[in-house]
Amino acid sequence: MLFRSEIPGFLELTRTEPVNRSVEERICDFNEIPGQLSSDELIGQASRCMDCGIPFCHSFGCPLANRIPDWNDMLYQGKWEQALRLLHATNNFPEITGRICPAPCETACTLAVDFGAVTIRRIELELVERGWKEGWINPLPPVAPSGFRAAVIGSGPAGLAAAQELARMGHEVIVFEKAERPGGILRYGIPDFKLEKLVLDRRLEQLKGEGVIFETGVEAGLDLSARYLSRSFDAVLISAGAGLPRDLSLPGRQLPGIHFAMEYLSHQNRLNGGELTRPDPELNASGKKVVVLGGGDTGSDCVGTARRQGADSIIQIEIMPRPPDRRSPDNPWPTWPNIFRTSTSQEEGCERIWSTSVREFIGPPTGVEKLSSVNLDRNSPADKPSAGTQEIPDSRFELPADLVIIAAGFTHTRVGPLIQDMELKLNKDGNISVDSSFAASRRGVFAAGDCVTGASLVVHAIDQGRRCASAVDCYLRKSEQV
Ligand SMILES: Cc1cc2nc3c(=O)[nH]c(=O)nc-3n(C[C@H](O)[C@H](O)[C@H](O)COP(=O)(O)OP(=O)(O)OC[C@H]3O[C@@H](n4cnc5c(N)ncnc54)[C@H](O)[C@@H]3O)c2cc1C
Repeated sequence: MLFRSEIPGFLELTRTEPVNRSVEERICDFNEIPGQLSSDELIGQASRCMDCGIPFCHSFGCPLANRIPDWNDMLYQGKWEQALRLLHATNNFPEITGRICPAPCETACTLAVDFGAVTIRRIELELVERGWKEGWINPLPPVAPSGFRAAVIGSGPAGLAAAQELARMGHEVIVFEKAERPGGILRYGIPDFKLEKLVLDRRLEQLKGEGVIFETGVEAGLDLSARYLSRSFDAVLISAGAGLPRDLSLPGRQLPGIHFAMEYLSHQNRLNGGELTRPDPELNASGKKVVVLGGGDTGSDCVGTARRQGADSIIQIEIMPRPPDRRSPDNPWPTWPNIFRTSTSQEEGCERIWSTSVREFIGPPTGVEKLSSVNLDRNSPADKPSAGTQEIPDSRFELPADLVIIAAGFTHTRVGPLIQDMELKLNKDGNISVDSSFAASRRGVFAAGDCVTGASLVVHAIDQGRRCASAVDCYLRKSEQV
């Protein structure tokens, strides 16, 4: 145990991160990758926080406005439980953001300019994990019921955060989820090696203890009509996610062996979770030449999954150019740095190709065999309409591929029977249109998360869910006075 006077802060302590399991070990299973920091190391890291006059981590970086300098100081003083209470005051699921948030708080940390940011995400994670271990995290049921009923449609992070907040405010909450189990992308998209599902299940038990009811395998709009929802609930909160994957309408797209990332990832997650007992050979990369189209995080999750399934080779193609190693002058601190990164999945072995666009999928009707691609000239004059996307003449090349995974993001929310039945207005991007109080175009209907913002991050979904729940609460309490 270190004493306060012995803790030197950022002038002497450098940023320390836990050591990940070795590549050789981790590609043999789907378990989480990072190791842990000791209590002394954590306290040392917390002591590096400068308690800045303007804490950019809290005010600019974190969408939840987590009170980072305050809980760093509490941890530094050994007040773990108090620090955890403050963390929970702004974030319902720190064990999830502590694992998978890209941590804009850290890139906005003042120390990130020159000294290496405080390991904020790690501190967040270890604080909450200690809370689970010590039994500090329990259901917090409301003191008195409000008498109002709210339906939450969709159980991703936005729906779960909203459901928890509404239940704690005293409302009766039923979450309808079309999948077999709750969690949305947290369960079916993000691989176990980033987020083991026990972590999610543990938190779901807390929500149940607070009175939240989950009805899974129920698709609102199909199994429940808009009329039923409006008549049975005082408010309906839609958190149905981004839904519709961006497709590539290219020659050969219909060939077997070409799949969307979510189809591929959810298959492996369902296998790991015991929902499926036998792998679908179509969605298994074992012994295959895999090409992942999309250089982002979802693409990276596919790379890590294919590696664990025993892929023969993995290539990840990105249409954008390789980012610079350091911030460019027009991308200054504390904005999010658009720099070259290597994910743990990419570290496990994959070839990365930049400034490349696929033109055609080639193969017999039995399945894809190769891709035809071109290199793009990213340096073409900026004032030309084709700037940045111009094909370099004679650059066409072919790549062998017998499993192609499209990880090109999402276009917008799925406009299914629920949105149609409720006749909800959409915004210019094709997502649900809401006003500043998260109210959709039909009275008593609210929306939050990716179905409003478009595909985003877990931390934004939690933030949307929390704020939408407050707006629903205001609406319900006002309706009482009418
Ligand atoms: C593969 C992948 C990896 C990602 N990794 C990260 C990461 O590492 N870090 C990060 O911060 N973000 C990550 N993201 C983004 C993040 O997961 C999303 O931004 C977030 O999950 C959005 O939350 P949500 O609650 O709005 O929607 P979702 O999580 O999409 O949940 C929506 C839920 O609504 C349900 N639903 C839809 N329609 C209906 C209906 N009519 N009736 C009943 N249920 C319905 C769906 O089945 C789903 O469960 C990732 C995304 C993907 C696709």
